[in-house]
Amino acid sequence: MSLAIDQEIVAKFDVPGPRYTSYPTAPVWSTDVNAAVYAEKLAAFGRTRGKTLSLYIHIPFCRSLCAYCGCSVVIRKKDERFADEYIEYLFKEMDLVHLALGGRPRVRQLHWGGGTPTFLNEAQIERLYKGTLKYFDVDPAGEVAIEIDPRTIDRSKVQKLRALGFNRVSIGVQDFNEEVQKEVNRRQPYSVVKELNDWCREPGFASVNFDLIYGLPRQTPESFSATVEQVVALRPDRVALYSFAYVPWLKRHQRKIDASLLPSGEAKLDIFLRARERFLESGYKAIAMDHFALADDELAKAFEAGTLYRNFMGYTVKPADEYIGVGVTSIGFLENTYVQNAKALPAYYAALDAGRLAVERGKVLTDDDRARQWTIHSLMCRFRIDKRDFQKEFHADFDRYFQDEQAHIRRCVQDGLLRVQNGSLEVCDAGKLFIRNICMGFDHYLKQKDALTRFSRTV
Ligand code: SF4
Repeated sequence: MSLAIDQEIVAKFDVPGPRYTSYPTAPVWSTDVNAAVYAEKLAAFGRTRGKTLSLYIHIPFCRSLCAYCGCSVVIRKKDERFADEYIEYLFKEMDLVHLALGGRPRVRQLHWGGGTPTFLNEAQIERLYKGTLKYFDVDPAGEVAIEIDPRTIDRSKVQKLRALGFNRVSIGVQDFNEEVQKEVNRRQPYSVVKELNDWCREPGFASVNFDLIYGLPRQTPESFSATVEQVVALRPDRVALYSFAYVPWLKRHQRKIDASLLPSGEAKLDIFLRARERFLESGYKAIAMDHFALADDELAKAFEAGTLYRNFMGYTVKPADEYIGVGVTSIGFLENTYVQNAKALPAYYAALDAGRLAVERGKVLTDDDRARQWTIHSLMCRFRIDKRDFQKEFHADFDRYFQDEQAHIRRCVQDGLLRVQNGSLEVCDAGKLFIRNICMGFDHYLKQKDALTRFSRTV
């Protein structure tokens, strides 16, 4: 299905806005949530029965800095001692978490992200994986995923990952065009990714995901179409097509990017729409905001069934009730509370050396936060809001609860983004492209002064 978007609509909605991997979003979290609060939440979770858990482990190291990077990274050329020391601290943190939990909980989803998890050598990967099992009971039938930088892996490391129990890989591709790669300081020829893709298919990972980014310097609709052709030829099970978050005022290294080389909002949307059309023609289903998956992939099935979830690891299939993040800058969510670890290595190490959980900030959700979180989540993952479900969940009438938001809903309907239908709000095709803008109308905290200055543009 091809979508024609009026340029006036693009101009109207191309504004700064959150990506809603959390609600409330990180800028409104505070230091009120500290190590003591986190320990209480862990203990409360430990006392509950039957709740499931996701575990995220952050490896912050990268060999070089990509100009577009939006993550918290530590650049280390190749000195593996840094990683050995870091793994020790991860175990110190797991020890404290384990103590507070009072047990070894079942983990339904394990995800290693970064940074670059494959910065670790095989021995370090094995040590970290096996060490984690001492503290967490990782379900081998669950989702065990790792992010791979193609420049830091060989066939033997791929086989090691599979042998340990990883069953999903996510490969950072971004763009195959050499000019774009040069501009963003990330050179990785197509042949390298193709070879890696072949290696991942040999030991039978359940799913191979490619991450792509649109909106990078020197990208054009034509150049990115060529990248999409190459991606389609390799047939990954899933593709995440992220919009480049250009925030040089927050990420200083992005200042190296020549802003005049960035595609305009109009061109950026054209790049996305062409890519979307090509994926759909090639047998992929569009999943929520910015993902595509082969029809038989679990992500596509979950989207169809309305059971898709979204958290800091992105869209996911095997949701857990709560998640714990381990490592510098990691984020967790449990007992209705977001927690984030220290963002700098020295602060992270110092807290653990003092025998304290390394939490720096977070947010305990209010009842209103929960109602808005549910609403935004429903829009992002299901493209609809069922008012009866809201009533069941919060014992409140949706329209009465969101009285102040009715004007926003009406505007979205007039602009062709939303449709009101039999007790539900349905997102129209055009609204799927501007889903962040629809969600923003339900975000209580955006009413605060300067609230938007920290976010990238929605287009
Ligand atoms: S490899 Fe990933 S995390 Fe590391 S600098 Fe590049 S984009 Fe950032």
